[in-house]
Amino acid sequence: MKGRARPGVSHAQIRGALGRVFGLRELREGQEAVISRVLAGLPTLALMPTGAGKSLCYQLPAVLIAGRTLVISPLIALMKDQCDALAEVGIEAVALHSGLSAGEAAAAREAIGAGRVRIVFCTPEQLANAEFVAGLAAASNAPPIELLVVDEAHCLSQWGFDFRPAFLEIGAAVEALGRPTVLALTATATPPVVDDIAEILSIPRAGIVGTGSYRPNLHYRAEHFSRADDKRARVGELVAAMAGTGLVYVATVKAAEELHAALASAGESVGLYHGRLTAAKRHAAQDAFMDGGVRVMVATNAFGLGIDKPDIRFVIHFQLPSGLDAYCQESGRAGRDGEPAECTLLHVEHDRAVQQFFLAGRYPQLNDFKAVVDTLGEPPSEPTGWTTGLLAERLGQRRKVAVVVNLLRSEGLLEADRDGRLRLRGDASSVDRLEALAQACAARSSRDRDMLERMVAYAQSGQCRWRLLLDYLEGAAPEEACGTCDNCLRLAAHQAQQQPAEPEAAPAQDPPAIEFPRGARVRTRRHGPASVVEADALGVTVEFANGQRRTFLPQYLTALPARASGRAMSHAPPTA
Ligand code: ADP
Ligand code: MG
Repeated sequence: MKGRARPGVSHAQIRGALGRVFGLRELREGQEAVISRVLAGLPTLALMPTGAGKSLCYQLPAVLIAGRTLVISPLIALMKDQCDALAEVGIEAVALHSGLSAGEAAAAREAIGAGRVRIVFCTPEQLANAEFVAGLAAASNAPPIELLVVDEAHCLSQWGFDFRPAFLEIGAAVEALGRPTVLALTATATPPVVDDIAEILSIPRAGIVGTGSYRPNLHYRAEHFSRADDKRARVGELVAAMAGTGLVYVATVKAAEELHAALASAGESVGLYHGRLTAAKRHAAQDAFMDGGVRVMVATNAFGLGIDKPDIRFVIHFQLPSGLDAYCQESGRAGRDGEPAECTLLHVEHDRAVQQFFLAGRYPQLNDFKAVVDTLGEPPSEPTGWTTGLLAERLGQRRKVAVVVNLLRSEGLLEADRDGRLRLRGDASSVDRLEALAQACAARSSRDRDMLERMVAYAQSGQCRWRLLLDYLEGAAPEEACGTCDNCLRLAAHQAQQQPAEPEAAPAQDPPAIEFPRGARVRTRRHGPASVVEADALGVTVEFANGQRRTFLPQYLTALPARASGRAMSHAPPTA
């Protein structure tokens, strides 16, 4: 299978193409390792943060190899930009997706068939079309597909929050195309997602190349408010005070509209983006923001996947996002150019309830699967046969029906033809199969609840924010703190205060009062009573009755009266 090793491509050739074709001088960290592997024909998964330059990892090999490169990308909006950018540097590329007119699609197919194209972009849904793949494999006028790239590869993973069932067809396409070299690209490097991608694409451990997720130019902070009005005032203040262009994420369409109106009436240059706008309005809003015509974008999470705007100077979350995974992605859109950028989370108690409400309805249950399968067994109300749209009309709950259809398809229980007509397959009516699916959904739902809890813990934590994020992203927190987040800065200020400027300056004042002495009983807002293990400017670490420890900011804790002495917890210090 590895007959594609290409010892002929030298370092000098790589550097030559880098300058000549792309006008760049140096490869960035990680790029060199990935490009060398790809040129040697080795399957590779590149884990690099947003903005690190993943595209070059296939673009450079694409011009150095004899065969063609196929890039599978979930983002139709970005394919055109990428083709245009490639055209500018003289690389022939074409994109094939459902957004093309019949004429455009025919022209694209013709160019591909005639071998005029070096890089072909397509959606995973396109790749599921056997005719399309056979056409690519059999083109007699064009060299074979030698490199197959899966961009935003976390969409392959059931663990990824952008999971797209059509991505699962890629394995079959790799076979049909004669096993080209596979390169998967993603910024989402959580261990379960990495494992999934590597397994589905048969990438060995040694093929996983990462640069780590730490981006020292991103400065994180979180601010809690007791009153929603105070938070609204604060976001206005922040937007006015921050220089450059920025994103403000909100959790609901209604909140997005309100905040957009408020900022606009305060004279800010502000755009609005959410999933209920028409496609034309969304495009116009996105273009205005990308071109710099609008300085600030107020958006729901519908905005942003793959947005390639390097100079976003701040990302403010006006509400708690759905989970720590979503927060990493969304805040990570700041500072792709490597210059300093601010990531600020504003939150009130109620935000969590909003997310819990969304969570409750997110996944289908056994009844939902049964309803779809039963309906598909009935004669359709239109001569065209059942489509997802028709099902949704009959059953209501458009979103849920679409999810059920996707899941049934990914399990091979349902088939859709080119016109979207649905047909049950195999043992689709087997209750066991449906129960297994419903259980998988329940498991995801529980994982989503964990992610929300981690988000809440992040918001309330007094620890280095980067350590919390890296603990999640990479499965381990680094020893060293970032030194730039709100909690690190607070600790530094506290330490500076404790160090007398001059040795003679006798400590006339009392040491700062410790609000929460070791052993003190406290109440946490969410988790009930606990006792203090340690308290410093980073926060108060408490231990619960079950032995679990967590660190909180002092404002999340209320002191409780001391217990009767005989029942003091074992680690309570002797009373002075
Ligand atoms: P991502 O990793 O998010 O997919 P992109 O591939 O979109 O990132 O690249 C982000 C930016 O970095 C682009 O503007 C690209 O031109 C630039 N870039 C990539 N590699 C280099 C390099 N070696 N030197 C300078 N700029 C680079
Ligand atoms: Mg990219």
